Amino acid sequence: MIDVTNLKKKFDELTVLESIDFSVKKGEVVCLIGPSGSGKTTLLRCLNLLEVPNGGSITIGNKTLTFDNAPPSKKDTIALRSFSGMVFQGFHLFPHKTVMENIIEAPLVVKKRKKVELMKEGDVLLKKVGMFEHRDKYPDSLSGGQQQRAAIARALMMNPEVMLFDEPTSALDPQLVKEVLRVIEELAKEGQTMVIVTHEMNFARRVADKVLFMDEGFIVEEGTASEVLENPKEQRTKEFLQLLD
Ligand code: ATP
Repeated sequence: MIDVTNLKKKFDELTVLESIDFSVKKGEVVCLIGPSGSGKTTLLRCLNLLEVPNGGSITIGNKTLTFDNAPPSKKDTIALRSFSGMVFQGFHLFPHKTVMENIIEAPLVVKKRKKVELMKEGDVLLKKVGMFEHRDKYPDSLSGGQQQRAAIARALMMNPEVMLFDEPTSALDPQLVKEVLRVIEELAKEGQTMVIVTHEMNFARRVADKVLFMDEGFIVEEGTASEVLENPKEQRTKEFLQLLD
């Protein structure tokens, strides 16, 4: 489903991703963990080309892009992006649109689909994330957890092959974290392929098929949640996990 090979990313002189290799199978949930500044968000943003890598290649679905020679064309960028749905830390909903208007916007504009059909599909997804009763409300009248659940429904509306989550609960008050994690766990049970940057280790333990520990632009260790989180082999992983205790 996803294959990342020798991926590199620099911001001017700062090398943030040195050489990243990993793969995600269909239906797998992969959690990316690691210290602040290790490159987790940058890696996730490279997967849908919000950041353009400086080298290596990414395959998602049946599309492979190589970044060694030149940045990708607009057409290739759109093609690769169409395979993924992104959920950000800050929910990024349109403030002047209702929840329903927010979630149907992309397929309405990008796929030119019919509003009536989209609203039916929207109802189903809003029920799934527990937001049906809020469908006609504007974002500023909702809690952070409700806004994030609407943002998840919005990403799902495009039927992505893979969902990318960038610290989806780190902007939320502690009491709102659970409701968002529950929705993500539900998607995991349904077999949705997901890559999740998270600092919630208990959540990673419950949901991840694979955990990648990143440090200083490398994937230092990877394995099942119990391998990496309970029995880490690498010193840097051990130190990181001890700091969280
Ligand atoms: P955190 O857990 O704090 O979110 P992270 O592991 O996700 O950290 P990144 O956000 O990927 O780390 O950042 C990695 C490094 O890249 C940091 O040194 C950061 O300052 C730098 N960086 C990220 N985005 C940019 C940018 N647009 N321009 C310049 N430097 C950037």
